[in-house]
Amino acid sequence: MTEYSGVNEAIRQLSICNACRYCEGYCYVWDAIEMKFIIEPGYVEHLANLCHDCRDCYYACPYNEPDHAFKLNIPKTLGNVRMETYENFIRPKILKKVLQKEGIITLLTIIIIFIASLLYISSRFGIYNFYKIPVTSVFPVYLFKGVSYFIYLYVAVLWIFEGVAYWNEINDGKHMNSMGIFKAIYDAINHKNFWGGGTGCKIPSENNKYERPVAHMMVFFGFIIALISVLFYPGIISGYAGYAYFIGSILLFAGSIGMIHIHMVDTKGLRSEKQSAIDYPFTVLLFFVGFTGILIPISVKTYIFNWNFLIHDVFILTLFILAPFSKFIHPLFRFLSLIKYRIDTGSS
Ligand code: SF4
Ligand code: SF4
Repeated sequence: MTEYSGVNEAIRQLSICNACRYCEGYCYVWDAIEMKFIIEPGYVEHLANLCHDCRDCYYACPYNEPDHAFKLNIPKTLGNVRMETYENFIRPKILKKVLQKEGIITLLTIIIIFIASLLYISSRFGIYNFYKIPVTSVFPVYLFKGVSYFIYLYVAVLWIFEGVAYWNEINDGKHMNSMGIFKAIYDAINHKNFWGGGTGCKIPSENNKYERPVAHMMVFFGFIIALISVLFYPGIISGYAGYAYFIGSILLFAGSIGMIHIHMVDTKGLRSEKQSAIDYPFTVLLFFVGFTGILIPISVKTYIFNWNFLIHDVFILTLFILAPFSKFIHPLFRFLSLIKYRIDTGSS
């Protein structure tokens, strides 16, 4: 039996789909396939990042593995290619090893930042006195905002390098335009391809259609709300920005629990194992960011407040330091593929 892998296997499966076309209309992937007679590797990477893994096409297909000789599983195969895309376009390239060992490197990064934080605290305030020092003395506004802006800039610069490399691979010589970007933002916000072809996302099971889109939306909007609120530090501890940060953290916490639950109960063997390997540590990290974020207003005026705030910052720093080399790069590639789709289809 021939063993297929990665892009070649995706081309094999998608060529069968291009003759069948039963799944037309399920998502943007199927409209995009119709535009090509011959599917090239760069185009497969684009299709892989257009796929939001709703599994509608899997359940519709009569040619699936393991029973049919065609052995199709489009979402799983595109998931494998997505993972290869991330590896191919991580910059600097050497750091694709972070993605390949995301779980252990996430843990190590947390430990290193935590130890560095302890050294800073013990040298400035003493570990035992730490809990009674005002948080704005431990993390003065200039330090907090300086580190935040620096880390945002660091992620933005690396994402630009990675995004340009990916765009050059998929763009077919076409230029971006503002309406294409605007429509892609609309698609990203309303989670267009998460809902399947109108029948709902079929992860974790064929009958559980709303858990994943809803959980992902909670994480998505929770993260954005929290990200904006942070700019108002120290207002995230009290005041309106504090309420917003609390709401963002609740959404992040609840959404990440939903995503972890989905990982745990998902039908075994249907998903790209490579994708699952990076999804899990990322989602668990989001869970801890959300959990410690919720504790910020709840723990004000208690002895755990400073420690929780510190640990919360350790998780956030880890999330952002690893952002260009972890599962966190997925919105970048998805967004660029949504832009390309909008430009290609003329719906921009
Ligand atoms: S996934 Fe199956 S049913 Fe859908 S287009 Fe491909 S071959 Fe046809
Ligand atoms: S988004 Fe859903 S329907 Fe579209 S290719 Fe992926 S799994 Fe199939």
